[in-house]
Amino acid sequence: MKTSIKRIAVTGGAGFLGSHLCDWLLSQGHEVLCIDNFFTGTKQNIAHLLANPLFELIRHDVTFPLYIEVDEIYNLACPASPIHYQFDPVQTTKTSVHGAINMLGLAKRIKAKIFQASTSEVYGDPRVHPQPETYWGHVNPTGVRACYDEGKRCAETLFFDYHRQHGLNIKIARIFNTYGPRMHPNDGRVVSNFIVQALANKPITVYGDGSQTRSFCYVDDLIDGFIRLMDSPDDFCGPVNLGNPNEFTILQLAEQIIARTGSTSQIEFLPLPADDPRQRRPDISLAVAKLGWEPDISLSDGLDPTINYFKKLQTL
Ligand code: NAD
Ligand code: UDP
Repeated sequence: MKTSIKRIAVTGGAGFLGSHLCDWLLSQGHEVLCIDNFFTGTKQNIAHLLANPLFELIRHDVTFPLYIEVDEIYNLACPASPIHYQFDPVQTTKTSVHGAINMLGLAKRIKAKIFQASTSEVYGDPRVHPQPETYWGHVNPTGVRACYDEGKRCAETLFFDYHRQHGLNIKIARIFNTYGPRMHPNDGRVVSNFIVQALANKPITVYGDGSQTRSFCYVDDLIDGFIRLMDSPDDFCGPVNLGNPNEFTILQLAEQIIARTGSTSQIEFLPLPADDPRQRRPDISLAVAKLGWEPDISLSDGLDPTINYFKKLQTL
């Protein structure tokens, strides 16, 4: 059965994840208001949507209030790659904290359901592995990643306080490393970096000895998790981990990307950035139990369309 048609705001809608979310919502017949200040997002990511009468683009910075009428809000606005969120760390904290306050205030006034794109970074450099939602994390509050980690932690606090204090219908997803087409080629994240380097036959920059781990989720699986969470019963707010539990070392990722691109690139070891988490893997039992969700696209299956996307970018 088709769900009822809604007006839905997506902050950060011109970004990597936001643009895929807009695509999916429009494909279901919903009206979408994409709100973005184009700090890391691009018009190119949503160019194919501009002629769609159900799609509206609003250039706006979420650190300022916004007055619109919608049924649901997906709050994704925030730079996500370490290079981008450390470029202007004060603005990053403002985007998470003031952005959350503004979007929660909006949701309260118009009685909209609101979704927060939180992150596995709330667990910091975790001492519990894999990470369940019950783990409170191990975050350096004054380090270079804190603008992102603590901003996102504070946003979760605000969401729960608006829920308890004002009865807001909230949904919080803790997203683990996700990759796919429309990642920014220069945002420094590991999958995009390695693919761009491999396609150019340039050295693959592995930070540290490459033994740190991450678990990579393909974007289509993640968006399915977003929708299931937003549509879950009102008494389930999360936070819920959304990510692929298959864990790889960064060196394994580099080797896989070299093999899949047929590159002649060599691996170059560079210093590990400060506070770089040693290991990361989501415990997704809550998502399985509450949302019936688990990812089914393997890293090898997800890498091919991602590599093809970056190949096409090179020819533009
Ligand atoms: P992205 O950088 O591609 O997208 C973020 C979008 O937010 C961009 O379009 C950017 O222009 C916009 N934005 C930034 N600051 C803004 C502001 N002040 N006002 C309005 N728009 C603003 O990153 P992404 O990977 O698509 O991440 C989307 C969300 O998901 C972020 O909140 C991020 O923290 C979260 N997340 C992503 C991942 C991942 O692996 N991709 C993992 C954990 C969490
Ligand atoms: N990384 C790397 N080389 C790169 C980019 C990243 O070795 O060119 C490592 C980085 O140090 C980290 C992991 O890959 O250990 C994931 O980095 P990313 O920036 O993608 O995300 P995050 O650290 O936020 O999970």
